[in-house]
Amino acid sequence: MDVRSQISMVFHLDKCIGCHTCSIACKNIWTDRRGAEYMWWNNVETKPGTGYPTKWENQDIYKGGWEKNGDSVSLKGAGKLKGLKNIFHNPYMPVLEDYYVPWAYKYQDLFTAPEGDDQPTARAVSLITGEHIDIQSGPNWDDDLSGTPDYARNDVNFKNLTQAEQESMFQLEQMTLHYLPRICNHCLNPACVGSCPSGALYKRGEDGVVLINQDRCRAWRMCVTACPYKKSYYNWNTGKSEKCILCYPRLESGQAPACMHSCVGRIRYLGVMLYDADKIQAVAASNDDQLLEAQMNIYLDPFDPEVIKAARENGVHDSTIKAAQESPVYKFVKEWKIALPLHPEFRTIPNLFYVPPMLPAMASVENGTYETTSEHMFANLDQQRLPMKYLASLFTNGDTNRIAQVMKRLLAVKINRRDITVGDYDKIEVKKALEVAGYDVHTANAIFRLTSLATFEERFVIPPAHREESIEMLEATADAKGETGFGFKTRPERGL
Ligand code: SF4
Ligand code: SF4
Repeated sequence: MDVRSQISMVFHLDKCIGCHTCSIACKNIWTDRRGAEYMWWNNVETKPGTGYPTKWENQDIYKGGWEKNGDSVSLKGAGKLKGLKNIFHNPYMPVLEDYYVPWAYKYQDLFTAPEGDDQPTARAVSLITGEHIDIQSGPNWDDDLSGTPDYARNDVNFKNLTQAEQESMFQLEQMTLHYLPRICNHCLNPACVGSCPSGALYKRGEDGVVLINQDRCRAWRMCVTACPYKKSYYNWNTGKSEKCILCYPRLESGQAPACMHSCVGRIRYLGVMLYDADKIQAVAASNDDQLLEAQMNIYLDPFDPEVIKAARENGVHDSTIKAAQESPVYKFVKEWKIALPLHPEFRTIPNLFYVPPMLPAMASVENGTYETTSEHMFANLDQQRLPMKYLASLFTNGDTNRIAQVMKRLLAVKINRRDITVGDYDKIEVKKALEVAGYDVHTANAIFRLTSLATFEERFVIPPAHREESIEMLEATADAKGETGFGFKTRPERGL
């Protein structure tokens, strides 16, 4: 057992209001620079939709992530040989139009336009060429457009739905949407790191943050192709790639990442997960139907004396172990089992987890008033507006049973709460719902509390920074290009 620590995040999607405050906070701090105008290290997408860059989930187009290769994995579109072949022409690389052409308005024209019969206008100009442009798209171009032919209907997650199922989703009264905030997943098996010919990318030993050494980056842009989440970007001005750094300078001074700190819906939870780095390759190379479970099993119980002992032997500080024991992420992911990784089939072992949205059944009118009986409000899962197959494509590699289990747990929490606050639900039904979820009343209340009433200190639990661990836990990633589990090839040694 090779115990490491990782800072991870949970997003509670039912709480996201799509305000984009997180994106703006990130932009103002990190990408408000020349060459980075089009970059959104944090972006928020409307689902169903095609996202940013457009259709990023479709790996037939972008060839991101890893594919199973016997007992190991190899990069889909980058890596040693494939990378060499595409080094001067990479057909899978997103181009600017796949993101959008960044623009501003020529506000000065409003003041300097000569007197005339018309109102002066501030036309859009490209931030790259300075020329006038007709705006064609933007980073959240399909914001709230959950039924349009160009966006929602091109969502790759419909692949397992029949035509009839898709059509029924687009009936006006059934139409629905939810938001999907995304940052870099700081993966345990990062494809970006595995693809870099210059060894510029690395995973920080002490907390698992994935970074790009700007001095070593040689602009090959293999990371842009390799990241299946399209969270590594190329800066055309500096000639270097860049990505979300999980606000590590803020973390090191005990502050939350800007996206989390500014989140209006308080949907984000940050905490430590302990995991077994020995298992990275085996997990990444699991069979499709075992991939998600294997990932869940790589995270370790921070209360287990064996895990604590192995963590200490590896140089993991006691304060990190304590933070892992108090981690809200551990609670949502491992204890309560209601948060899932996004697209585990990309095999990068991502470290962001999502509590899927409930999207309840349609409200109906009975005798001129809205139907608000418990039976209606907690209608069965088949009546929910977002099909299980759709959510399964996002979070469980197509396993609808697993999504249904999570939904039942979330429903049980709501039913329990309704029982406490309204009390109109049959007690036997409440008990049954909790049994199905595998919860007792105490657990259901704890989930309710962390979901709805948690203080900032409960949502943000990280240890003091331990830079002293980084040297021991890092390794020159260039030595192991195209392989799994970067940054963790050798066990750390104390006393360097
Ligand atoms: S592969 Fe993972 S760690 Fe690398 S940029 Fe993409 S999301 Fe981030
Ligand atoms: S700030 Fe929070 S609530 Fe607003 S879009 Fe971002 S994640 Fe959602």
